[in-house]
Amino acid sequence: MPAAGAGRGAPEPVVPASRAAITPVGLGLGPIVHAGARPAASGLVDRWNRSATDLRISLTERCNLRCTYCMPAEGLPTKPAAALMQADEVVRMSHIAVSLLGVRQLRFTGGEPLLRADLASIIAACAALEPRPEVSLTTNAIGLSSRAAGLAAAGLDRINVSLDTVHAATFLEVTRRPFLDRVLDGIEKAAEAGLGPIKINAVLLRGVNDGEAAELLAWSLERGYQLRFIEQMPLDADHTWSRTEMVTATEIRARLTERFTLTPHDAPRDGAPAELFRVFDPAGVELGTVGIIASVSEPFCADCRRTRLTADGRVRSCLFSHTETDLLTPMRAGATDAEVADLWREAMWGKPAGHGLDNPDFVQPARSMSAIGG
Ligand code: SAM
Ligand code: SF4
Repeated sequence: MPAAGAGRGAPEPVVPASRAAITPVGLGLGPIVHAGARPAASGLVDRWNRSATDLRISLTERCNLRCTYCMPAEGLPTKPAAALMQADEVVRMSHIAVSLLGVRQLRFTGGEPLLRADLASIIAACAALEPRPEVSLTTNAIGLSSRAAGLAAAGLDRINVSLDTVHAATFLEVTRRPFLDRVLDGIEKAAEAGLGPIKINAVLLRGVNDGEAAELLAWSLERGYQLRFIEQMPLDADHTWSRTEMVTATEIRARLTERFTLTPHDAPRDGAPAELFRVFDPAGVELGTVGIIASVSEPFCADCRRTRLTADGRVRSCLFSHTETDLLTPMRAGATDAEVADLWREAMWGKPAGHGLDNPDFVQPARSMSAIGG
């Protein structure tokens, strides 16, 4: 297994050399020289020479599931609707990102983005931006059955559905809700609406669904869905994550090879968080691919291309940031597009080199995953 960050094109030192050298702990990036002043008009570049072209926008912190690795059983305290970005504000933020800041991919998430009744109109407006961004959605698929065709017609390009099990009892244990049938129906309708190839995101929990990994892969391959396992991250509202309990990428691969043969995919990773594998059955027949997103055990921060906007309009340069930059308040106070863009650039300039999970002083961020936008 490669060392964290090894062989992934760590950023080159940036001038001026007079600044202090910094070694990001636990990233294996080696000494990197702090950059000088931020370029005035640029995309969303940071001091480590990365450029964010992939924007995740959370549309709500609310959700109709209570996945144990994300939400508390009682849900999160609700914010007044006026505190959240309205549809026109989401579209204006997207316009600034796409036309002034070089963003090429927009992904709507949450909380559960399908809880926004105005989702199709937001997607339609964003799909009409120039240059046309790729527009995608991460969803738990509850309610997707009746909306998939409308979202596809609005211009949605791709969909990722979170599904950790195909067993009703396990689904109830993970999500605390008995809605597996609705999710499966939603996925089917999305495929029929042409939103494929559908990606399935799964988080494995030890002693809950880790024994189902190979079965979930078989189920996905049979239907032509692209399954990606995501290592559980310390972003749960209950703060119960533990490094020794989380199911690592190594264990996931071991589980899958009980039933399949995996070989590394040679397609360029190109900043994608998932490491892709080709999947073969015991007779050597190729069945498809599987991805593993090893954010904890094999971090890919050196290649990160993401920037995030929370539902209340704050930039988070990293999932694990402790700082946020409020864009919504200045926008509502009359800031021009250029001024908002500059605040965004400044926020990204301060993006940390890595998530720092291996640092002895790592502290889990106050916001949990559903309040950030995963
Ligand atoms: N509700 C939608 C859904 O579940 O797809 C969108 C929001 S959800 C926060 C986005 C993704 O984050 C899901 O795929 C979910 O599995 C993942 N996620 C949530 N909490 C996580 C955690 N602690 N570690 C890793 N992934 C997590
Ligand atoms: Fe809801 Fe998605 Fe979090 Fe599950 S992972 S509780 S579906 S926001």
